[in-house]
Amino acid sequence: MIYWYSVIVQTPAHSPLAGLLTYQSEQRLEVGSFVRVPLGSRELMGVVWQKLDSAPEPMFSAQGKEVELKAITAGLGIQAVSTAWLKLVSFTANYYQRSLGEVALAALPPQLRTLDTLQVERRLKRQTERTKPVAATLQNSVNDEIAINSIALQAEQTLATAKISTENGPFLLFGATGSGKTEVYLQAALEALQTDPTAQVLMMVPEINLTPQLEDRVRERICPLYGDAAVVSLHSGMTNPQRLKSWLSAHMGTARVVLGTRMAIFASMPHLKLIVVDEEHDPSYKSQEGARYSARDLAVYRGKLEHAKVILGSATPSFESWHHSTPAADGDSASKGRYVRLTMAERIGGGVLPKVITVNMEHQPKKTVISPPLLNAIAERIAHGEQAMLFLNRRGFAPVLHCGDCGWKSECPHCSAYRVFHKIDRTLRCHHCGFTQRVPRACPACGNLDITTIGRGTEQLEENLADLLAHVKRPDGAPVRISRIDADTTKLKGALQQQLAQVHSGEVDVLVGTQMIAKGHDFRNITLVAAINPDGALFSSDFRAPERLFSLLMQAAGRAGRDASQGAASEMWVQTHHPQHPLYLALKQHDYAGFAAQQLKEREVAMMSPFGYSALVRAEARTQEAAQAFLTAASESAADLADSVPGFEHIIPLITLYPAVPMTIQRIANVERAQMLVESHSRKALQQFLSQWQSILQATKQKGMIRWAVDVDPLAI
Ligand code: ADP
Ligand code: ZN
Ligand code: ZN
Repeated sequence: MIYWYSVIVQTPAHSPLAGLLTYQSEQRLEVGSFVRVPLGSRELMGVVWQKLDSAPEPMFSAQGKEVELKAITAGLGIQAVSTAWLKLVSFTANYYQRSLGEVALAALPPQLRTLDTLQVERRLKRQTERTKPVAATLQNSVNDEIAINSIALQAEQTLATAKISTENGPFLLFGATGSGKTEVYLQAALEALQTDPTAQVLMMVPEINLTPQLEDRVRERICPLYGDAAVVSLHSGMTNPQRLKSWLSAHMGTARVVLGTRMAIFASMPHLKLIVVDEEHDPSYKSQEGARYSARDLAVYRGKLEHAKVILGSATPSFESWHHSTPAADGDSASKGRYVRLTMAERIGGGVLPKVITVNMEHQPKKTVISPPLLNAIAERIAHGEQAMLFLNRRGFAPVLHCGDCGWKSECPHCSAYRVFHKIDRTLRCHHCGFTQRVPRACPACGNLDITTIGRGTEQLEENLADLLAHVKRPDGAPVRISRIDADTTKLKGALQQQLAQVHSGEVDVLVGTQMIAKGHDFRNITLVAAINPDGALFSSDFRAPERLFSLLMQAAGRAGRDASQGAASEMWVQTHHPQHPLYLALKQHDYAGFAAQQLKEREVAMMSPFGYSALVRAEARTQEAAQAFLTAASESAADLADSVPGFEHIIPLITLYPAVPMTIQRIANVERAQMLVESHSRKALQQFLSQWQSILQATKQKGMIRWAVDVDPLAI
């Protein structure tokens, strides 16, 4: 007996093959099973996508000879992925306009591709031997009760937990920083695991390395009940063998909790019952390469698909999630009220949110880095044995080096950007292409010896601060200790953990860094947080810039006063030239809801997300003209779809194609970049349009073009 199957194999991004190839087999195979198949002279891993009912149409070679259908080489001996997983992958490929083969293979651990049947068997055997079955005694329900209830929940936590337990969701857990959201996730996870002996929970975090505490907390609570093998991590910082191991244990159901970053949304979990998306507003949930998927949005989709509950949590939800969780009134847009909003306004232990203080920099001498009142406040904290945290969104010493005589600036020869001056190794480094040179002694254009810096980065801030605090002593009489955390100081593996440990242990008095320090950490002794120069985002052309700044400042404020004993006295300082800006006024009140309402109103008028839908097509070419010409040509051909595709006479009028424009950073590493915005107030129309437009984009030829990509629901425009 012969069977025919279409099999997903890896294909290039825009391949018209879509990654589905037909093979025959003498054995009956389950849809979703893993196989190895021949392709040309190679053998590839594939996933059985569909069983065909009859022999496919014969294919003929160029010489007119019938090509014999190749046979599947072997099965891989791992259980099949679920049909839900296949649906998730195909939805992602369709929605984000990529080929099925690319998305499916990227969603699987890379090492799986390289193993043959025997190797997979060995690995599985090793893994099952190591992960001893969870002893029945561990699952003793009496123990469970004790462990679950060992923490007395706060009233708001109890309410949230009860709603999650009884309603379907999806839930938006809107909880202030330090309100105990993690505890609610853990309760929901424990309940899911208890109710169903096979249940699995997916917990996603933006960046695992920034929140090692969360992993500890999850292990602490889950492992004593379900064994050490019950919790696995899945993120890009892992080696390929580690990833395969985690993936296999999730796939086989041994892992009951998978803790991971955005890629974990594709983890094969046959018994998925709960998905948690912590810090759901975080931009790192949106992939910026390959299929540009949003793991948060896919979480909601996957939850619906698999009847798993979904909890999105944040102190500063994305305005999209906020809107979807706003109770709907009559006549409101249909997307309102789709999520159940759970509010936890109070911090654990009654700690109050820090007092927000703005310093009007208009009243400070020009070039002031740290205003005197802020400096005094920092010195006072140190004298009391407390810690301060200052952040500035720029690393390096100075963003530009400049000659006052001839006007030379440290431009990167390969990018439309300046190279940043790094004093520590006296280099000029391009943060876009990496091009690095030693700092010139004199101006390369005119020979002037007196070249100066413009602006300020974290490296300089650290240096300034050391000078300004030179006279300040810690309570033990020792000089002040300053530590800087940014992408430069944390390049080495383990460096970040070590630096964070120093902050936690109190070795450090002042922590200086980029926004990476403002996220998620549970610092106990930080009582003052300061944003040194956050104004830039107020006047950005990107409509999401205010949302991001507000969220960053709220999150940063949340780092202060987490210990209730100091909570009342903690402060968040903002140095600004625009203290009356509505964003800062809202921040002073910790008024997320007010700020969100104001911003959403503006977006509604402008038909921007979540009221309108958009996609960006980005083109990269040897010249800017070529990049734009490609986009313009594809845009002009789009109108033809109205005549050539049935029904498109109604779709095309719903689509707005904007002119091609250079991207903000127009050139990176000598590649010119342009983009085109596509908008519609109908998501469905936009989707239908994009899927038809794909073939036009594929067919559009332009000399000098390098590559193009579609970004659906782009984060930055
Ligand atoms: P969030 O995630 O909302 O910022 P966390 O879940 O980290 O807040 O909680 C803040 C702190 O309060 C943590 O140290 C946590 O262990 C503690 N905590 C949470 N819930 C409770 C509770 N019900 N009783 C006592 N402490 C709690
Ligand atoms: Zn010069
Ligand atoms: Zn460069």
